[in-house]
Amino acid sequence: MPETEVLEGSVRSRNGEVRAESVTEREDLFDETYKEKDGPKPPMIIVWKNVILMTLLHIGAVYGIFLLPSARMLTLAWSVICFLISALGVTAGVHRLWSHKSYKASLPLRIFLAFANSMAFENDIFEWSRDHRVHHKFSETDADPHNAVRGFFFSHIGWLLVRKHPDVIEKGKKIDLSDLKADKVVMFQRKYYKISVVLMCFTVPTLVPWYLWGENFWVSYFVPGLLRYAVVLNSTWLVNSAAHMWGNRPYDVNIYPRENKLVILTTIGEGFHNYHHTFPYDYATSEFGCKMNLTTCFINFMCFLGLAKDCKTVAPEIVLARAQRTGDGSARNRSG
Ligand SMILES: [Zn+2]
Ligand SMILES: [Zn+2]
Repeated sequence: MPETEVLEGSVRSRNGEVRAESVTEREDLFDETYKEKDGPKPPMIIVWKNVILMTLLHIGAVYGIFLLPSARMLTLAWSVICFLISALGVTAGVHRLWSHKSYKASLPLRIFLAFANSMAFENDIFEWSRDHRVHHKFSETDADPHNAVRGFFFSHIGWLLVRKHPDVIEKGKKIDLSDLKADKVVMFQRKYYKISVVLMCFTVPTLVPWYLWGENFWVSYFVPGLLRYAVVLNSTWLVNSAAHMWGNRPYDVNIYPRENKLVILTTIGEGFHNYHHTFPYDYATSEFGCKMNLTTCFINFMCFLGLAKDCKTVAPEIVLARAQRTGDGSARNRSG
């Protein structure tokens, strides 16, 4: 069983709470001192290379949907396995382990999660974690990389198609990333990121069905390759878009993030987003443990195997007190 660490509230001091750890120790807590600059917003500069690549990927993914009926059962099963490995590389890996330090992982587990993360191809662990800490620290402001105030499209994919707001870059440079720099697995993945993506995101998913059970090469490329990759990307992006817009706010009604069941399902447990932004250090990202949360089950299993430890959780009485104080009253059914 994960060790329970009682942490006091999350931490927006505007709600009069005591910080669990000092700001220098945690970089994923909301910083209320930041103020957006006055005056007109800087112009949006479109990154056409990304627009073209994302368009081609999604055309390829739609073609993959049409190829589904001709794919063999083994290939479909392999696509699901690739989806789950990629998803864990994001959820258990770069999100809960590296961005939030919500548990500790042994070297073999970190190596697995780094490979899994390259299969998801969502920027390397170092860059993803930096952007994610900035997202938590400056949520829904100019310094938030996928500021949901700018609408569904921007927070879903648009933010990847334009140059970053200058405040995102400025704040990103100031975030403490010393823990990531000290992790050899993170820096190794960053150094060899391109080759690891070619291998894990495209080559392995394509070659396994083609070589092992004689699947048609193009079906292998478009289904477990491009279609699976596009599904992983859009599932992750729904956390930034849908889960910042639709759903209950049982823990803090003052913030955008919500509990969103669709996102809980598509991201194997990352849609408890009102809880997550309220208690970002909880390894389960929810007060319900493994319920609808395959990622938490996975981390628990890794603890059982001795490959993970020191899982941080929040005591139920603290969660309840917080829900009663700042929640929207949907606390009886807090799963949304
Ligand atoms: Zn997070
Ligand atoms: Zn968020």
